[in-house]
Amino acid sequence: ATPKTLAQSDIALRTPPYQHLIKNLKSVRRILGTRRQLTVAEKTLYSHLHNIEESLLSNTQNGNQIRGNATLKLKPDRVAMQDASAQMALLQFMSCGLLSTAVPTSIHCDHMIVGERGADVDLPASITGNKEVFDFLESAAKKYGIEFWPPGAGIIHQTVLENYAAPGLMMLGTDSHTPNAGGLGAIAIGVGGADAVDAMVDAPWELKAPRILGVRLEQQLSGWTAPKDVIMKLAGLLTVRGGTGFIIEYFGPGVETISCTGMATICNMGAEVGATTSIFPYTKSMREYLKSTHRSRVARHADGIRDPNAVSHLLSADPGAEYDEVITIDLSTLEPHINGPFTPDLSTPLSQFKDAVKVNEWPKSFGAGLIGSCTNSSYQDMTRAEHLVKQASAAGLKPKADFFITPGSEQIRATLAAGETLETFSSAGGTVLANACGPCIGQWKRTDGVSKGEANAIFSSYNRNFKGRNDGNPSTMNFLASPEIVTAMSYAGSTTFNPLTDTLPTPSGTPFQFSPPSGIDLPKGGFAQGNPELAPTPGVPDSSHPVIISPTSDRLAVLEPFAPFPTGELQGLRVLYKVKGQCTTDTISAAGPWLKYKGHLPNISANTLIGAVNAETGETNVAYDHFDSGEPPKSAIPQLAEKWKGQGKEWMVVAESNYGEGSAREHAALQPRYLGGRVIVAKSFARIHETNLKKQGIVPLVFENEGDYEEIGAGDVVSTVGLYDMLKNGGKGDVSLRVDKRGGGEKIIKFKHTISPDQAGFILAGSALNLMAKKLG
Ligand code: SF4
Repeated sequence: ATPKTLAQSDIALRTPPYQHLIKNLKSVRRILGTRRQLTVAEKTLYSHLHNIEESLLSNTQNGNQIRGNATLKLKPDRVAMQDASAQMALLQFMSCGLLSTAVPTSIHCDHMIVGERGADVDLPASITGNKEVFDFLESAAKKYGIEFWPPGAGIIHQTVLENYAAPGLMMLGTDSHTPNAGGLGAIAIGVGGADAVDAMVDAPWELKAPRILGVRLEQQLSGWTAPKDVIMKLAGLLTVRGGTGFIIEYFGPGVETISCTGMATICNMGAEVGATTSIFPYTKSMREYLKSTHRSRVARHADGIRDPNAVSHLLSADPGAEYDEVITIDLSTLEPHINGPFTPDLSTPLSQFKDAVKVNEWPKSFGAGLIGSCTNSSYQDMTRAEHLVKQASAAGLKPKADFFITPGSEQIRATLAAGETLETFSSAGGTVLANACGPCIGQWKRTDGVSKGEANAIFSSYNRNFKGRNDGNPSTMNFLASPEIVTAMSYAGSTTFNPLTDTLPTPSGTPFQFSPPSGIDLPKGGFAQGNPELAPTPGVPDSSHPVIISPTSDRLAVLEPFAPFPTGELQGLRVLYKVKGQCTTDTISAAGPWLKYKGHLPNISANTLIGAVNAETGETNVAYDHFDSGEPPKSAIPQLAEKWKGQGKEWMVVAESNYGEGSAREHAALQPRYLGGRVIVAKSFARIHETNLKKQGIVPLVFENEGDYEEIGAGDVVSTVGLYDMLKNGGKGDVSLRVDKRGGGEKIIKFKHTISPDQAGFILAGSALNLMAKKLG
């Protein structure tokens, strides 16, 4: 889809504003003192500050404690949005009344395309089924000057890597795997639509300065071990919460040995440990990737400013730069890993996996192997998988498990087709799906007869494996691995097969053993263009272009502003639900079939919290109306919330740790707000979700003493103490809740919060958008 030669104007738009960034970096150094050594993440981030002095000096002991303390106000260079989240982001942007976006912005139609029988059948069917939404997105893109990548053009992160990511760039993306672009040296952060709107209207975007976790890579990968195994191992070490509040920055001699796309895979899955983002310094492999994707001029610009004398190393860390924590990984001894099921941090080295299957009584066979997606569909990934398929085909073998291949973009698909890689997969019995998310986001219509609730296993090279994510079946165990391991294991169909050591029987009777995979980093002569119909529309605004929303649509609805915060404390807040255990954004706002209502807040709100486990009864999505006389009638959570909304009663939720982990899905904040949610209290929050809540006017509070989780439950009635004053004081002050217990008695519980002055303003106004609309006009 990328033209061979980009127009001058496109190159300008796709090259980070290096001279401006260098000037800013010099100011940063002047303020912090030239002896202060900076990491590459700090340089990239701080050179995008809106007001450098204010950000670096306030709350930071004169610039000595920036990380973890300063509130950074940033001006990103670019925004990217996927089709599911873009709907709400655009609806929010539209209510600001601007004629065009302030920074280059792109929309990628990828999440709403089903994977079932193959691209040729699935893509047209998905386009027909989602026509209304795609028409809306395209019409809004044309009006506001947003580049629109149509369905089939590719998955957002792969398309961004091929077209927009660049060393030193800062971008926001309305998807949690936006950090994928860190593989090309960008600071790329996953956010909700309301945050993206900040950048689109040229308002500074706020971020608590992350701490920096350095991962030192030593030696070099070889044999079966792939870049994916670096992050799979790291996920095991850090857990899904270990990266919270950090940017992960890779350094050390091993960095120069990894392909650009391999680094993107590693950065992509930094989202799985909760990191703000991940980044690599500019390397030779990035330069080669830029050239191969027809951006030699971007590479030349990046090379030009790499000169240490000219720019004080904008694109690499200063020698002696300090990290808040350091983890060292020796690539030469790293084993392939398999992570899962149900959580990406359950990491098992391949050599121990056979035993883990037995001990945990995981299924011994698996029904499907899925490779590709935004995480692992690079030329290198696919040619390494192809090498294995060719070996097996030569031995007369076919995959025992269903084998699916998802190219990440039209560019990679066309390149793989030209080299006959896809033909190799198809001939072996593989199904090539559309260049889209498909099974990775629950858009997978399985045809292998596995029924809902039936325990079964699949292997994928995807990044995420929460319950029900792929096929809507909470009993499907998705084991994550590199594409090489998934491919080889698909030939056995057995979870206990170790391709490094085990053999497979062949028709000839000679046992077959795979040789380690080998592939090609980049195609000779660069990537193919692919189908020109899948190229993006130009990002030129046309204010006369109408935005298409049918007033009778059940898929799209214009947003109504939320009511402002009352002038005083919240009184009579009912506890709707007390959640037990993990509560991801999937739990709060499920994907799969619900994706189609992403642009219709009232309709999608019918899925609010339907995956949440009731802490008192152990039931999922069963809430009790303790305010109804007599036996509390039970209902689904969204039904009770809707009932209380109808009665004008606002409510709150009580939760455990890392509430809202998983994705940037702002619907997980919008829906509770729409239904009357005002406060969420938890033992801790996932960063993106906590910000999303504040932007939509919901107050996230963290128990000062985690044990107090036991002191509050469904049916209690709560009044805030100090909350209003804290908000009026720009986030300063203590907050408690007075809890009138359902069974009688009263408790006072103390809470912490991370509400900044700007965020206090959002909450008081009712939402960030309310405040912005007021400011703009
Ligand atoms: Fe799409 Fe899956 Fe990548 Fe998300 S993680 S962008 S759903 S392929």
